[in-house]
Amino acid sequence: MFEIAKQRLEPVFNHIDINEEVISRLSVPKRSIIANIPVRMDDGSLRVFTGYRVQYDDTRGPTKGGIRYHPKVNLDEVTSLSFWMTVKCAVAGLPFGGAKGGVTVNPKELSLLEVERLSRGYIRAFADVLGENRDVPAPDVYTNSTIMGWMADEYSVIARRQEPSIITGKPLHLNGSQGRECATGQGALFVLNEYARHRGWEVSQKTVAIQGFGNAGYHFARLAQTLGYRVVAVSDSQGAIYDPKGLNVKDVFRYKTENSELASVYCEGSVCNPLDYQTITNEELLTLDVDVLVLAAMENQITQLNADKIQAGTVLEIANGPVTPQADEVLESNGIAVIPDVLANSGGVTVSYFEWVQNKAGFYWEEKEVVEKLQKIMRREANLIFDLAQRYQCSLRTAAYIHGVERLAGAIDQRGNSKLFNSSK
Ligand code: NAD
Repeated sequence: MFEIAKQRLEPVFNHIDINEEVISRLSVPKRSIIANIPVRMDDGSLRVFTGYRVQYDDTRGPTKGGIRYHPKVNLDEVTSLSFWMTVKCAVAGLPFGGAKGGVTVNPKELSLLEVERLSRGYIRAFADVLGENRDVPAPDVYTNSTIMGWMADEYSVIARRQEPSIITGKPLHLNGSQGRECATGQGALFVLNEYARHRGWEVSQKTVAIQGFGNAGYHFARLAQTLGYRVVAVSDSQGAIYDPKGLNVKDVFRYKTENSELASVYCEGSVCNPLDYQTITNEELLTLDVDVLVLAAMENQITQLNADKIQAGTVLEIANGPVTPQADEVLESNGIAVIPDVLANSGGVTVSYFEWVQNKAGFYWEEKEVVEKLQKIMRREANLIFDLAQRYQCSLRTAAYIHGVERLAGAIDQRGNSKLFNSSK
C-alpha cells in the first residue's frame, strides 16, 4: 500500500522541478515505532495488542495524525496514512508534519473498560515520542473524542502536568475545540461548494451518495442536506439504503444510534435498521448514477475491479486513499473528476490545528469563529489547487500534490541542500 501511495508523487515530478534530496527525504518515513501493549481484560486474562506510530516528516512542524483502531491495521497501512498526512498538512498550509498511529484490534469486541485500558496503554507505550511540539495525535477510524480524552488524561499523569495540546479531537469539556466533531465533513463541504461554484452548479439539483456514515460521512451528509443537496444513499459496514427522492439524514442517524449498545463510544447500529428505505449493497451504492459519490469509509474502495462501473460525475474523497492510482486512470479517462483526499478531508486536521492553537494560548474561540476560519482556509487552498490544475492541465489530485510538495520541498531545501553546502566550500 505504501509503495502505491508514493506513486502519487510521480506525476508531480513530471510537472515541477524537485531536487533529488527532497525526493529521497519524501520517499521514506523519518521514524516508525512498533509497541506491544498488554491489556488486562475484564475476565482477568491478559491480551497483548500491537500498536504503531509512524512519524513521516517533521520539516514543517511537529508531526500530526490520528490513531486508528481496526483489525486490519498494520505498519504498511499506518506508513501510507502518515505519508498522506504529511502531504495534507502541507496542502492545507498548516505548520505541521505528518504522522499516523494505530492498533490492530476489533474494538467492538472489547468492553468500554477494555477500550479505556488499551487507549491508556497506547499512550504509555508511545509517550516518549509524543509531545505538543513533537507529535500530536488525533482520532481516526473507530477512535473518537472520548478516547482522546482518556489519552490526554493518561499523558498528563505521565508528564505530571496538564498538557492538553498533546492531542486533539478531545471532548469540549476537556479543552476540545468548538466545531472539531463535524470539521472533516464541514471542510469537505466547503471544498465541494467551491468546486460547485466554479462549475456553476445549482446544488438543489444535485444528488449525492455517501459510503461510510461515521463521523466524517454523517456530518457531511447532514450539512450537505441542509444546503439543499439531495442525499439519496448512505452506507456503513453492514450495508446501504437508497431513496431516489432523498433520505432524511437526521432520521437515519437517530435510528442508527438508537440501536447502539455502546452509545458513548461506538455506534453498533446500522443505517439499515428499520426505516422505510430500499436496502442495497455497498457495491451497488458505489455504482449509483448520482452527481457526487462521496467516499467516507476506508481506503481502496474504487479499484481496477470496479472503476469502470462508476457512474457518478464527481467523486469526493473524504476517506484517506479510497481510490487506487490504477482506478484514478480509469475514472479520468471516463471523464469523472476526483476531488482528492489530501484537500477534501483536510478540514479535520485544520480544526485540530485550531484546537492546538487554543490549547497553547489557553483562550477558546466560539464555534462561529472556528467555522469562519475553516471556510477561509478550505476556500483558499481549494482555489489555489483549481488554478494549478488549470495551469498544468492535470487532475485535481496531481494539482493538490504539486501544491503540497512545493511547500514541503521549500521547507526541506531551506534547511540546506547540496547546492548551498558545495558553494560554501
Ligand atoms: P468512523 O469510524 O467514525 O466511521 C467509519 C464509517 O465507515 C462507519 O460508518 C463504518 O461502518 C463505515 N464503514 C467501514 N467499512 C465500510 C465499508 N466497507 N463500506 C461502507 N462503510 C464502511 O470513521 P471516520 O472518522 O468517519 O473516518 C472515515 C474516513 O475518513 C477514514 O478513511 C478516515 O481516515 C478519514 N478521515 C477522517 C477524519 C476525521 O476527522 N474523522 C479526518 C480525515 C480523514
